[in-house]
Amino acid sequence: MTIRNVGIVGAGTMGNGIAQACAVAGVNAVMLDVNAAALDKGVATISASLDRLVKKEKIHAADKAAALARVKTTTSIDELAGCDYVIEAATENEALKIKILKDLDAVVQPGVVIATNTSSISITRLAAATHRPDRFIGMHFFNPVPMMALVELIRGIATSDETLEIAQGLAKALGKTPITVKNSPGFVVNRILCPMINEAIFCLQEGLATAEDIDNGMKLGTNQPIGPLALADMIGLDVMIAVMNVFYEGFNDPKYRPAPLLKEMVAAGYLGRKTGRGFYRY
Ligand code: NAD
Repeated sequence: MTIRNVGIVGAGTMGNGIAQACAVAGVNAVMLDVNAAALDKGVATISASLDRLVKKEKIHAADKAAALARVKTTTSIDELAGCDYVIEAATENEALKIKILKDLDAVVQPGVVIATNTSSISITRLAAATHRPDRFIGMHFFNPVPMMALVELIRGIATSDETLEIAQGLAKALGKTPITVKNSPGFVVNRILCPMINEAIFCLQEGLATAEDIDNGMKLGTNQPIGPLALADMIGLDVMIAVMNVFYEGFNDPKYRPAPLLKEMVAAGYLGRKTGRGFYRY
């Protein structure tokens, strides 16, 4: 099944990245947002990102124009009625997502797959908000979408084999490598990554080594491009604590408790790069 028209809900960081990946791959994208300014900003972000690809001679100027022409924007959900695949990438808030999914379910054709890019909410629970839980799947892209090769495809309890195949086909058409994961808090990549970062924070808190030495240790000793503490500053310490709490509450297991130093830093407003101070100063 070839997907030609993808509806994307949310024109923010992830939504515009997904729209760009579609457009570059020759797939039409309609971005929906409640905020018209977010749509303008989303298109401007795509345009600037394509300019960088032209400059690096990865695409021609004509390819940029063709890709941009494939991106449409709207503030009306009705404009998504003709899509043959929809990806919800709105703000990470369960009540908001449930409302959006119910609205989408009523507007898009019955057989059409609805995917969500949530990073932490249960796919099974979101699927249950629709009348098509078999046609529902988690499609977890990574930031920045145009650069990152991975897509985690998350099966809820009712996701059908056919839905998985359609999602795999779309991920591959966008030049991504899909992996398949069962629904579980944090899926697979964040389940492994975030506790590792949390452990690095415990090491710092216990005074085992400086932040620089912890990061150098992990960079040089395990071949990671960036150390865990510098990565936490990029992700945002508020996001880190929220993810650890999803694991802590989702599994009822103390091994996922957020490091006290992480809590203390969030309480102080030291959220990483976005506030100019985290484990490092910016
Ligand atoms: P963002 O804040 O950059 O963008 C969210 C957009 O959703 C905003 O433009 C907002 O106006 C819009 N929105 C809010 N309510 C809406 C509604 N009712 N209808 C349409 N649009 C609406 O957020 P983001 O970082 O792009 O994250 C989006 C989703 O992707 C979240 O579920 C997040 O967990 C997930 N995610 C984020 C990352 C990341 O690194 N940022 C990575 C993977 C997954």
